[in-house]
Amino acid sequence: MQYRFCPQCGAPLEVMPLSGRERHACIQPECGFVHWNNPLPVLAAVVEYEGKLLLARNAAWPEQMFALVTGFLERDETPELGVARELKEETNLDTEAVSLIGVYEFMRKNELIIAYHVKASGNIALSEELAEYKLVAPENMRIWSAGTGFAVADWLQARGYPVRFFDRRTGEDIPDPRQPSDFSVLSGSLQYRV
Ligand SMILES: [Zn+2]
Repeated sequence: MQYRFCPQCGAPLEVMPLSGRERHACIQPECGFVHWNNPLPVLAAVVEYEGKLLLARNAAWPEQMFALVTGFLERDETPELGVARELKEETNLDTEAVSLIGVYEFMRKNELIIAYHVKASGNIALSEELAEYKLVAPENMRIWSAGTGFAVADWLQARGYPVRFFDRRTGEDIPDPRQPSDFSVLSGSLQYRV
């Protein structure tokens, strides 16, 4: 999301350095609006249903492209309830237990993925948003190498299942793309006062 004008006072925004980065900020000093553009949290569910993992295809996606159930958190909602609500809305499944898998970057969309393992029961009925679903045995999972895929990888790995990544465009297996964070990038960009 980018703004050209201040959503508070309507004045133009200007790029200026603030807190170590270039930001779009209001030119009116008495207004003080800054578009921080921080990542938006997204909930994702690794849904375990009858011993299998549920993947769903969004109606707008190409065939063969399946993913986790995801959604945005509502105001005044805990993430645990939010992920259970999304699952109910999109698949009609009831949540029995929720546990955090981890938090993952999704810089491509300026989002932060909060991934949960959700044990679910009930009868599947898809919302209009979803075109189809499939249930995959954990030992047969092949993982896409992006945001929510890394949550699936961590979930499988913690349970001793094989972790196999594939390229979504070619369909071919690829090496594990996960990299440890390189914290040395911080040393050149931050200036500390001592
Ligand atoms: Zn303003």
